[in-house]
Amino acid sequence: MQQVAVLGATGSIGKNTLDVIARHPERYQVFALSGHQNLALLLEQVTQFQPQVVIITSEKHFTREWQARFEQAAPQCDIQLGEQALVEVAKAPSVDIVMAAIVGAAGLKSTLAAAAAGKKLLLANKESLVIAGELMMNAVADSGATLLPIDSEHNAIFQCLPSDYAQQGFNASGIQRVLLTGSGGPFREWPLSELAAVTPQQACAHPNWEMGQKISVDSATMMNKGLEVIEACHLFALSSEQLEVVIHPQSIIHSMVSYVDGSVIAQMGQPDMRTPIAYGLSWPERIDAGVEALDFSQIAQLTFEQPDYQRYPCLQLAFAAFRAQGSAATVLNAANEVAVAAFLAAGIKFTDIAKVNEAALNSLENQFGLDIDGLIQQDHRAREFARDFIKHL
Ligand code: NDP
Ligand code: MG
Repeated sequence: MQQVAVLGATGSIGKNTLDVIARHPERYQVFALSGHQNLALLLEQVTQFQPQVVIITSEKHFTREWQARFEQAAPQCDIQLGEQALVEVAKAPSVDIVMAAIVGAAGLKSTLAAAAAGKKLLLANKESLVIAGELMMNAVADSGATLLPIDSEHNAIFQCLPSDYAQQGFNASGIQRVLLTGSGGPFREWPLSELAAVTPQQACAHPNWEMGQKISVDSATMMNKGLEVIEACHLFALSSEQLEVVIHPQSIIHSMVSYVDGSVIAQMGQPDMRTPIAYGLSWPERIDAGVEALDFSQIAQLTFEQPDYQRYPCLQLAFAAFRAQGSAATVLNAANEVAVAAFLAAGIKFTDIAKVNEAALNSLENQFGLDIDGLIQQDHRAREFARDFIKHL
């Protein structure tokens, strides 16, 4: 029986994780759950899974009334408050598996703690690799943690690579290129001139995937693919030239690896996050994820395109930030979080997101060799810059 901590349980990935876990009560037990503001859902989850620990990170939402409800729902459950509690649970000796499913930089410290504690780390929180990729990968190597990517593309790449890839590396594995696919989002075919008028509701209506708001907007700008480029380069020790982004609007192929002999291995499946989540939970075995098999008679066509940087300037910024190394990706990620939040609050235009990101990347000094506190400081500086820049837009 493996004990699982689901950090960000009330989100899209968190809910899918609990769906898979509930199908396998003989294999997995929920040790801890965390939620931020959605206490009603967290209470339901605590009632169903009866964890040892529940963490509420937004303390101001946790009134006495809520406390009484949680205590009644699970009398044995230890209620903890605040971000530090996430870190403690991520490294708790009783925890075998940590699902890092908090959105944004808020997930950084707990994800890093799980990596440093040698856990089996199921990484959905791509931002932690973008902000602190080197520190994360070093922590994994030093502790012997098992890092399993949950992001569907990275999970796909992981499945398409040889099992000894980590020891052999790119060249000795006979790899020609890693092909990262992305749908291109809801505005792939819109006239460029209409993008400025895009509403948050339109941006959040992804054609294939149902996801949280932030990542949905990131998919529409393709900043999500940009973050994924950086994520992939860290996870699989790639240079930016060893990786190519391919637009594949149907989201059936989740990514591919092309080999020097001309073979291309692709991972396919429904656009349903329960597949990569189940793979991460059970690796190297496979378990039922509740996902239907692909019906090829229903798939009319699989198409592919090259990304157009005029339409997706954020993708180009991400490549530039990864090549610049240092704290550039940290800055880009922080500025983007501020810009997306401002767009969702109808404070800026859709096309302003890229402007905020570019200005932050060009204006903040790139710093090298920062430790985690230095990176967090740089993240704060970039947020401040972005907020100020938005005021003057
Ligand atoms: P959601 O917005 O649906 O969920 C985010 C989770 O994080 C919720 O549990 C939320 O709590 C919690 N949270 C929000 N802010 C904070 C905070 N400041 N401190 C602590 N917890 C917080 O996001 P997703 O599930 O879509 O995404 C989660 C991560 O997975 C992201 O990094 C995303 O990039 C990645 N990912 C998601 C995919 C998807 O299909 N959804 C696919 C690939 C990667 P509450 O809701 O209670 O406020
Ligand atoms: Mg993805």
